[in-house]
Amino acid sequence: MKIAVLPGDGIGPEIVAQASKVLEALRSDGLKIELEHAHIGGAGYDAAGDPLPDATLNLAKQSDAVLLGAVGGYQYDTLARPLRPEQGLLRIRKGLSLFANLRPAMVYPELANASSLKPELVAGLDIMILRELTGDIYFGQPRGVRTLDNGERQGFDTMLYSESEIRRVAHVGFQIAMKRNKKVCSVDKANVLDTSMLWREIVTEVAKEYSAVELSHMYVDNAAMQLVRAPKQFDVMLTGNIFGDILSDEASMLTGSIGMLPSASLDANNKGLYEPCHGSAPDIAGKNIANPLATILSVAMMMRYTFAREDIAQRIEAAVRKTLQRGLRTADIFEAGTQKVGTDAMGAAVVAAL
Ligand code: NAD
Repeated sequence: MKIAVLPGDGIGPEIVAQASKVLEALRSDGLKIELEHAHIGGAGYDAAGDPLPDATLNLAKQSDAVLLGAVGGYQYDTLARPLRPEQGLLRIRKGLSLFANLRPAMVYPELANASSLKPELVAGLDIMILRELTGDIYFGQPRGVRTLDNGERQGFDTMLYSESEIRRVAHVGFQIAMKRNKKVCSVDKANVLDTSMLWREIVTEVAKEYSAVELSHMYVDNAAMQLVRAPKQFDVMLTGNIFGDILSDEASMLTGSIGMLPSASLDANNKGLYEPCHGSAPDIAGKNIANPLATILSVAMMMRYTFAREDIAQRIEAAVRKTLQRGLRTADIFEAGTQKVGTDAMGAAVVAAL
């Protein structure tokens, strides 16, 4: 298991250090894990004048998986756009052809009170949003702002999906569902958009290859409503880029704690980039108070999706669960009656539980 480790900026190095401890514990158990570090984001700019130095992209390409912390910081806000930390992230996703973005929204029963919804609606919630990441209106051409004959300016973008793009992400969706509760809800706007009509047609076609999986379709406006009405009805939600962008943020907030949510972005061969959903949190960087669990749970996803080691994934998830059951909490998920601990102590407790 050759893993590129890219801590990045802000709390990135602190949380990645905890996830690395988990990987090192697994290595001392006999797993053949090789870790190599490189710079990305502001750290890449500081080290090499580029948010994605060539050496980092090359390392990522040669690795089986990438573990990333987060990028961004106030000190980089005045740089020209191509030099900004976020460009490093966009470029590495593109450079590795990561088209399938997996964002689970899980609520551990111990943390159900942290949600903005009633605890009984979210306790035990476990849904997976699968968002297509490299197509749709975010990348479609033509786009721009033009001036009409009457002198008025008009902005325009193009929503585009080719059959092959829909098919490959649909396959990922059904394969994930096979490892879960075998339900896929495909989200579109087929009552209005031609792109969505093709999306629905192709997803229905791909579903025929997965007879064990139950497929349903839902319009995106209804999906947005159902996510806050009865989120536990979903297993895997399969969406295009723009709908997935919005729904995955909505779903992540159901859990109430951004510090708990991992993510994976996969290519056609299950090579993946694994990172927490949150950013670099410059407001709390260097204080040893950031929650490292999203990053540790990203390692669990890495074991599941890139290395096909469901056993290890579950072992890591069980260790996190056990740590929460012991009552340990970082500041972001702290409530009365639990024990507040720092980033390091939380990482050490997960390793001990492992
Ligand atoms: P953020 O996710 O960094 O922080 C939002 C809030 O959540 C902050 O109050 C922060 O302290 C808190 N928070 C985030 N992660 C936490 C954790 N693990 N434990 C405890 N609290 C946590 O979002 P932001 O403040 O909008 O952005 C800060 C920087 O991060 C910006 O430069 C932004 O561009 C960048 N960013 C990067 C990524 C990424 O690397 N994938 C994603 C989003 C934002």
